Amino acid sequence: MYKPKILVVEDDPAISNLIRTTLDTQNYQYHTAKNGSSAILDAVSYKPDVIILDLGLPDMDGVDIIKKVRGWSNLPIIVVSARSEDQDKVDALDAGADDYLTKPFSVDEFLARLRVALRRSHTEETAGEEGSVYNNGELKIDYAAGCAYIRDTEIHLTPIEYKLLCLLAKNTGKVLTHNYILREIWGSALESDIPSLRVFMATLRKKIETNPSSPRYIQTHVGIGYRMIRQ
Ligand code: CA
Repeated sequence: MYKPKILVVEDDPAISNLIRTTLDTQNYQYHTAKNGSSAILDAVSYKPDVIILDLGLPDMDGVDIIKKVRGWSNLPIIVVSARSEDQDKVDALDAGADDYLTKPFSVDEFLARLRVALRRSHTEETAGEEGSVYNNGELKIDYAAGCAYIRDTEIHLTPIEYKLLCLLAKNTGKVLTHNYILREIWGSALESDIPSLRVFMATLRKKIETNPSSPRYIQTHVGIGYRMIRQ
């Protein structure tokens, strides 16, 4: 059976130990790097399925590592940050990270995020086989027809709601920042546009979620953005 390969980039020995012990119990393969320059080399030579990346490294800012890796690869990157500031996470996500964990994090939370990232790396490889239909729980999108369905009933979306839904669906499992969504949908990202994004998201949720106040599909990351959850 294939054992997923994880590249762990972390200079703090205690956290690196915790992550390695956790990966051992789950039968994952891993390789560790303690600084940014070896992380970039290892990302090429070790060919990991997922990178776990500490943002504060001795020789390089983690955001620069993300930018470098994104120059040639779309492999999932989960950022681990001791910093509580949302801006660092937003910068990392905007640079192309998939997800983030704030230290201290629980082992269960870590493993759950890792499974989501591994699933994304797997679904990307097989995306071509499914063609132009997206299926996620009771939600279905027929990209060719431009229609979305819940339990096989068509839902009537405005053009913007449909674009939002497709953008989230195409990035299932990945946290999309407000800036990223605004740029993709409206072509520009202004802080002042975030309230209208919230309004569109609320109306979209009313149409796809059974209980919009406790959404199953679209998760909110306060101060950061949104993520489509695989059911
Ligand atoms: Ca560090």
